Amino acid sequence: MSLHGDYDAQNIFAKIIRGEAPCYKLYEDEYVLAFLDLFPQSRGHALVIPKQAAARNLLDIDADSLGRLALATQKVARAVAEELEPAGIQIAQFNGAPAGQTVFHIHFHIVPRYEGQGLGVHAAQKGDEADLKVLQERLAKRLAG
Ligand code: 5GP
Repeated sequence: MSLHGDYDAQNIFAKIIRGEAPCYKLYEDEYVLAFLDLFPQSRGHALVIPKQAAARNLLDIDADSLGRLALATQKVARAVAEELEPAGIQIAQFNGAPAGQTVFHIHFHIVPRYEGQGLGVHAAQKGDEADLKVLQERLAKRLAG
């Protein structure tokens, strides 16, 4: 997939939005959805996506959706910081396959970084389901509070 092209409504994040695929949901409102990455680069790795914009990347999203997405990313990052107390938080966003994008529905990564751990970009392993569930409960509760 290149940087340019048509939006494919069959991508996995579009399916998650429509409820056709499951996710470990952290937060949702009319405009955005946040959930845990299934292949986390670190404990608490979350993704935030727009629900109404059929946008592949930063180049084609409308300004209103981008604004809401940025604010939601800050909201989830704050919850991650408070709940998991990482040493740092990486916010990442990839545009086009050569830049590392694998799912072509725009998303922001929120990757908590802990002392002594590396800066991996793509994890090869699926997260432990029991731990993802624990993290979902903790972070969703924090975001609801
Ligand atoms: P990208 O490389 O496009 O910036 O990031 C896509 C992210 O989506 C990756 O970190 C990958 O682990 C994650 N991912 C891929 N498929 C699924 C899925 O079915 N569910 C969830 N929660 N995350 C996924």
